[in-house]
Amino acid sequence: MSDISAALARIRASRTTAITDRATQLRAAGRDIISLSVGEPDFATPPHVIAAAKAALDAGATRYTPVGGTAAMKAAAALHFARDLGIDVPVSQVTTSAGGKQAIFHALLATLDPGDEVIVPAPYWVSYPEIVRFAGARVVPVECRAQDGFRLDPAAVAAAITPHTRWLLLNSPGNPTGAVLSAPVLHQLASVLAPHPRVLVLSDDIYAPLRFTPGAHATLAAIAPQLADRILTISGVSKSHAMTGFRIGVAAGPQWLISAMERLQSHNSGNPAAVSQAAAVAAFEGPQDFLAEWCETFRTRRDFVVGAIDAIPGLSTPVPDGAFYCLVDAAPLMDRYGDDEALALHLLDHGVAVVPASAFGGKPGFRLSFAASDEALTAALSRIEDALQ
Ligand code: GLU
Repeated sequence: MSDISAALARIRASRTTAITDRATQLRAAGRDIISLSVGEPDFATPPHVIAAAKAALDAGATRYTPVGGTAAMKAAAALHFARDLGIDVPVSQVTTSAGGKQAIFHALLATLDPGDEVIVPAPYWVSYPEIVRFAGARVVPVECRAQDGFRLDPAAVAAAITPHTRWLLLNSPGNPTGAVLSAPVLHQLASVLAPHPRVLVLSDDIYAPLRFTPGAHATLAAIAPQLADRILTISGVSKSHAMTGFRIGVAAGPQWLISAMERLQSHNSGNPAAVSQAAAVAAFEGPQDFLAEWCETFRTRRDFVVGAIDAIPGLSTPVPDGAFYCLVDAAPLMDRYGDDEALALHLLDHGVAVVPASAFGGKPGFRLSFAASDEALTAALSRIEDALQ
């Protein structure tokens, strides 16, 4: 008997991780592939973080910890939420998981029932709708248009709310578009949400430090504290501190939800890796000044990539305000390639791995990560140009 469950049959494997695994296999087989598929900074993890991980191992961080993280981990996470996101929470209202992805998975699985609806601004990160479907709930996409810089329209969210709505998912800066939710838009969203007490909000702020807009990061829990008892904010160290492999995500939210997520986690992975928690504590408590430098590097790369994409006939992209992705429109090329899956395979044949935009609920095109070296980006863009000639 090899039948999978009905729940698993509703979802497919992550297309970001699938294409990246494929690129890794091709490289191992000797092919020259530049991978711009996965969202992973190419910078080295800061040395003080590595030193903290080594010291923690020597000090015996090889055992179980409390499910939601050590006391030091929770304190560091609370410090991060207050200092970097403007969200003041007691340590009892934060939890730690194996990456932000696991926190999102647990939050949705812990609260969704069949018949519930989840509003997901599109284009969206691949895993949001799949987790919703796995939980047996319905995805309600709200389209954000390229010509509007992929900005979310609060009126469209208002129109999508029904008595069945359980969650609104927000992600700013956004993956795959790089769009940023401004403070005025968040205020409007708060007004939209006020009369709907059943609607919870998941604000995925994992890319918050990687922003090219002036001023402080704006997030709903800080903008609308009156709604804080139904907002879950997700953050972590993966993207900001080049620590993807450590797998540490953090979440802050209402007590009942944090407890529910930890209840689920206690039967799933248990605690996140002890050594990774020690590294994340060092990341949150240590120097943060390198972030501005990294951000500047990403901005330079963004400007290069946007210019190079726009110069290739058939391709165009809005200018992302944050994160490290461009969502490239390739609709004019679909006559030639059929769909964007075929286009991505064609580019892979020419040595560049990207993710089809359809994986993110976008118009035909592809997502390109500019978290890669200048040399890799220059070579990749020239390969893309050659491949499309
Ligand atoms: N979030 C990153 C991305 O979108 C990592 C892969 C994943 O978890 O989807 O590329």
